[in-house]
Order: sequence, then structure tokens, then C-alpha cells
Amino acid sequence: MNVIEIDKQYIASTYARFPVQIVSGKGSRVTDVDGKEYIDLSTGIAVNTFGVADEAWQKAVIEQLGKVQHTSNLYYSEPCALLAQTLCERTGMKKVFFSNSGAEANECAIKAGRKYGELKKGKEYSTIITLKNSFHGRTITTLSATGQDVFHAHFTPMTDGFVHAIPNDFADMERLVAEHKCCAIMLELVQGEGGVTALDKAYVKAVEKLAREQDLLLIIDEVQTGNGRTGSLYAFQAYDIEPDVVTTAKGLGGGLPIGATMLNSRADLFTAGLNGSTFGGNPIACAGAMSILSRIDEKLLDEVKAKSEYIFTELGKAKGVKSVSGRGLMIGVETEKDASEVISGCMARGVLVIKAKNKVRLLPALNIPMEELKKAVQILREEIEK
Ligand SMILES: *Cc1c(COP(=O)(O)O)cnc(C)c1O
Repeated sequence: MNVIEIDKQYIASTYARFPVQIVSGKGSRVTDVDGKEYIDLSTGIAVNTFGVADEAWQKAVIEQLGKVQHTSNLYYSEPCALLAQTLCERTGMKKVFFSNSGAEANECAIKAGRKYGELKKGKEYSTIITLKNSFHGRTITTLSATGQDVFHAHFTPMTDGFVHAIPNDFADMERLVAEHKCCAIMLELVQGEGGVTALDKAYVKAVEKLAREQDLLLIIDEVQTGNGRTGSLYAFQAYDIEPDVVTTAKGLGGGLPIGATMLNSRADLFTAGLNGSTFGGNPIACAGAMSILSRIDEKLLDEVKAKSEYIFTELGKAKGVKSVSGRGLMIGVETEKDASEVISGCMARGVLVIKAKNKVRLLPALNIPMEELKKAVQILREEIEK
């Protein structure tokens, strides 16, 4: 049997995979089992921040692998301490809890929200407002937080205490805050899985003000938008807000599993035993993340913005494009043609793009060479216009 047949027989059928088996790569170029090359604009869903087999990241990971691969959280460990320090220094946040995925990072944020409600107003103040069309993870509780009914089917009872506001509708947010005993508001600044749509700055600023007035924690889910993806180190920095909790994962590890929940002083409510994770803060993942963060500087972020502008301009004028949305290198393209058709067309011609709702989604490596980006975008454009 080949890998596809083995996979189909033995892997739980939760994924509708594309008929591609990637075996190697370098930067933004990946090669499949038949030796066919692709320009990768999907980066393992915003994970491979600097593409595949990035040498600086590999070096950091291998160096740590040669020292110790895991220690447990019963002991101190340098990579995890230094990564937390870097994250705090570069965001203004005060403490970090490490886990292994976006969902877990959000679980920790939800715990912080509920703990805050209990402390400030009483245990019944436990409701968290999230947005319709959001995506916060696959655990039962982060699915409850996720404002898309399709994800709730089959798994009831869901975790209580989540209500969903209409994005960019401040009156709806005010209404829900008034109607429920709330402890927190949780937002993605650019909804990723929901179709790559950015929230309005005025709306986000108003929500921040409301959270302050009502003494609610403001939680920003930057699992996908974080780590340079949207043109600033974290998206909240471009929205000019001061969140209480920021979660991230995906691109932070550059390909290794890691989740981080950053807390400001208001949300710094955890004491020994209140949360934990066996693998959280794993030294190899943290060493890799240090290498990733160290290279997300102003120069790189300017390049991200320039590449973003190129994509917006190029696809904005393409025939058959209804809209281009998103920020930085997190872009959704709404096409007249069915998105799946565009994606298969691109794949056949050696370009990997993915889907978000009904849109074609682009998440290229932050350091994709302009030449490769241009080539891939022209192919995408031709497939859209065809
Ligand atoms: C991917 C994603 C998650 C879930 O992350 P996992 O690592 O798959 O658990 C949560 N929130 C957002 C915004 C995401 O894009």
C-alpha cells in the first residue's frame, strides 16, 4: 500500500486531505513524493513562519536537542524562561503560561477570564462574549467559544457561558454585556478560519473601552494573527489597544507545537496548581520560538507589509476577484469561481493555497522571496481569471 492508502485505512477520517504528500522542502518551496515542486503559500496554516527547513531555526532546535529534550515543569529551564522574557519585553505583557496549541492557550485565557469574574464580581460572573464567525479551537470549551454553529453539532452538551456578538456591531456587544453576567470579551482581530476578515479599529477601540468600564478582561486570540503574520509582531499592536490576555500558537514555534497565553498584571491571577501542562514550555519548542522571534524585526515587518500590498494590488485588479481581505500576509480572496476549483488549478500548476470559508486563503512564509511570491501570485491570478 502507498501512504495515501495506509492513511485512508488507519487515520481517523477527520481531514479531507488534498492528494499531495510533501516530503521535503527549502524555504517557500516544497517537494512532493513524486518530485513535483510547489511554491507554498499555506505554510502548514501559518505555522512555518520562515518556510521549510529554515537553517537558523533548525540550528536552534538541534542545539537544544543535543542538551535536553524535556524536563517537566517541576524544574526551571532556560529556553522557556528566556522565551517568556522576550514575549513580555516585546509586547508589554507581564507573565506567560506555555502550552502546546492554540486551543490550550485559549483554554488558559478562558480560565483567567473566569477567575477574574469570580474575584471581582462573584462566581456567577462567568460568561465570556466572543464573536459570531470566530474560531478559537477544537476542545469542547474552545468550540463553545467558537461562534459558528456548524462546529457545535454532535458534541452537545457544550460548555456553558459563551455568547456570540455580531462582529463590528458595537450595539450588539453592549446589549450582550448588559444582558449577561460577564467576565471577559474574547476577539480575533482578523478572523482567520471565519474568512480572513479584519475587525474595524474603531469597533475594537470601543470594545476595549467597554471592557474597561464594565471591568471585563479583554482577551485577544492571536493564535493565527500573531508572530508577524499581520505586519506587526502581534496584531493588537497595530490596533493600538492594551489587552489583558493575548494568546498565540501557530507561527510562534516555526513548526513545533507551542501555545502561549500572555497575561498583563490584571490577568496575572494564577497561583501554583491552578493550571499546568506536561509538555508546556518544552525546551526544544521554546528554543525554536526564540529563533523565530529574534528575526521578526522592523525590517522583516516592513517586508511583510510590502508583500501584502503587492498581493492586495495584484489580486485587487484581477478579473473574477470579488474582494481581497485580511492584513499583512494573512489574506482571503473571494472569487467568482468556486474557491476549491481555484485551489486545485493552482495545485496542478505548482502553487499551494488553501481555503477559509468560501475564500482562497494565502498565508505565505514571512520571508518568501519576492520572485517566488510574484510567480505564485501570477499563477493564482491566471487560475482565478481563467
Ligand atoms: C488555529 C486557531 C486556533 C486553534 O489552534 P490549535 O493549535 O489548532 O489548537 C485557535 N484560534 C485561532 C484564531 C486559530 O486560528
